[in-house]
Amino acid sequence: MATERILITGANGQIGSVLTQALRERYGTDHVVASDIRQPAEAAGPFFTLDVLDGEAMAALIKRESITQVYHLAAILSAKGEEAPLHTWEINMQGLFNVLEVARTHQLHKVFYPSSIAVFGSRTEKLLTPQWAHLYPETVYGISKAAGEYWALYYHTRYGLDVRSVRYPGIIGYQSLPGGGTTDYAVDIFHKAIEGQTFSCFLKATTALPMLYMDDAIRGTLELMEAPASQLTVRSSYNLAGMSFTPAELAASIQEFIPAFSISYQPDFRQQIADSWPASIDDSEARADWGWEPSFDLRAMTKDMLHHLRQRRSASDTAAL
Ligand code: NAD
Repeated sequence: MATERILITGANGQIGSVLTQALRERYGTDHVVASDIRQPAEAAGPFFTLDVLDGEAMAALIKRESITQVYHLAAILSAKGEEAPLHTWEINMQGLFNVLEVARTHQLHKVFYPSSIAVFGSRTEKLLTPQWAHLYPETVYGISKAAGEYWALYYHTRYGLDVRSVRYPGIIGYQSLPGGGTTDYAVDIFHKAIEGQTFSCFLKATTALPMLYMDDAIRGTLELMEAPASQLTVRSSYNLAGMSFTPAELAASIQEFIPAFSISYQPDFRQQIADSWPASIDDSEARADWGWEPSFDLRAMTKDMLHHLRQRRSASDTAAL
């Protein structure tokens, strides 16, 4: 395990910043190279500025650092992607092609490519969406992730590249802030609750979406990447589920711990995106193939989020004294 050397693209993002730390705990700080187009606020290990559109720079970095695995997280997410569809397509697709090509030509051991529940659309079964549901994505982000899944499968079938992928639902964590997705509300709401403010939600009270706690997302990602290749039957992208709830249900869960918390609803353009996505996901294949099982439900997540955010708040209050 210690001989693996890992490159993460998009390492400063909501998931990347937490995944980088988890990989460093597992493989050793110097074995995990973080990269992003933006400089990090602080780097706790090797970091290089890398635009994933620059395939030559990516190949040079992979060669220089003797990289054996890439976790390719850099992307423009669903809500932000709609602001500039063609630019989003370029970053999400050309960035992936650069990773797949350099992985093929440098014979890397493994590539991780996160897909998303955005590959589904309003014509897809909404409840317990099956693994093999038809993909009818309605955002440029979803179209790019669906195409990316096909390319992951293609590189695996055609070149034997060990690409592994999950369709993340909305990811909720206290460690980092989200970067422009349709499920961002479910992180922002906790920050407002802790500050004693009313939360204005950009989705309707009744919009159910699949979500996953960050700790489960990171553990699931590592479990998939460490599973024996022979056990994996899905080489496009695995459905992955944690919990499913509406903004009203999340608000009620927070009110159990902060009774004075209040929420109002001002749906915007993100409502239409959310309406096209599943309300819940069937992840039987991930459970059967590599033993996936989430450990946080809505209540456990709410409790843990509030506990950690309160801890951070009191630590920063103390530091300010
Ligand atoms: P994020 O927006 O928080 O982070 C993305 C990172 O990519 C940012 O740090 C950004 O600076 C970087 N980036 C953007 N353009 C780049 C470029 N040209 N070159 C290099 N870096 C660039 O996203 P995230 O939430 O951490 O998501 C990580 C991955 O997981 C993405 O591929 C996303 O599609 C996927 N995903 C996330 C969620 C979620 O809820 N967060 C859900 C489904 C899938």
